[in-house]
Amino acid sequence: MMTPQGATRGQEPISASSTAHETATRFAPSPTGPLHLGHAYSAILAHDFARARGGIFMLRIEDIDPGRSRPEHVDAILEDLAWLGLDWDGELLFQSERLALYQVALDRLRGQGLVYPCFCTRSEIAAEIAASASAPHPGSGSGTGDPDGPVYPGTCRALSHSERYRLIEEKPHAWRLDMTAALERVNESLSWCDHGRAVAAEPERFGDVVLARKDAPASYHLAVTIDDSAQGITDIVRGQDLFAATHVHRLLQALLGLPVPHYHHHDLIRGNDGQRLAKRNRAPTIASLRAAGADPRDLAESLRKGALPAGYSVAAD
Ligand code: GLU
Repeated sequence: MMTPQGATRGQEPISASSTAHETATRFAPSPTGPLHLGHAYSAILAHDFARARGGIFMLRIEDIDPGRSRPEHVDAILEDLAWLGLDWDGELLFQSERLALYQVALDRLRGQGLVYPCFCTRSEIAAEIAASASAPHPGSGSGTGDPDGPVYPGTCRALSHSERYRLIEEKPHAWRLDMTAALERVNESLSWCDHGRAVAAEPERFGDVVLARKDAPASYHLAVTIDDSAQGITDIVRGQDLFAATHVHRLLQALLGLPVPHYHHHDLIRGNDGQRLAKRNRAPTIASLRAAGADPRDLAESLRKGALPAGYSVAAD
């Protein structure tokens, strides 16, 4: 069931779902490469969570990164899910078709003075952090991972209005959340429910996160928060690698007046070296297992039981 605690401070919700289901889960892959065993595991857990409760399982393609998303990966994802025997409900959502909606939310936060334009490049940020030996890195060392890398040192927060107006015309810019202003606005402690246990949200650990990329009016954090609400997702079943990002998502739910789903962050599939599977470390893809003659039902059943091919295991951090 949904917990309507996000609808605080009389905010009109941005894009809340009109159709509420008892249980609705989703799988939300980014089409930046082929699905691997870890994706299949996550999709199966989300699918089964909904089906065991007579609920619905939805699919969303998170393709706001124009440089890395490819239509051929979308086709392959659909093929892999069908091969694994996972059927989804409702319309297939593409984030790239929803940019106007994210823009509305961003405009609202801008109108409230909660975001500011950031003109820094990655290398400028790295140099600024390196130059400031005392720069705090609250996102690291916490054991939960940092959703966005090092904490932004706040360089562009200090720009005057006139400098901002001038630079906006001249330079590509992202939009960052002013974390201090956002926390002041919410002015209450936030939490979410993970596997039935309350977790205190500590978004301040992550500093002024990006809410809109230089090349899109959204970032992962903004788009995922809006879409989970728009799709009426009640239960988010996803990997432990996204646990840290939930601190930020919980704050955005409060700022945008969105309901708060229940979360179920699951352990990750790891290789012999203990590293979690990732596109970059050549995790076995579902397509390669299919090509090698794997039986999809056997594979799906093994993943359900946590019984993995030799050399892989499911483990917590
Ligand atoms: N699109 C994200 C990914 O592929 C998953 C987002 C989510 O489940 O919240 O890693």
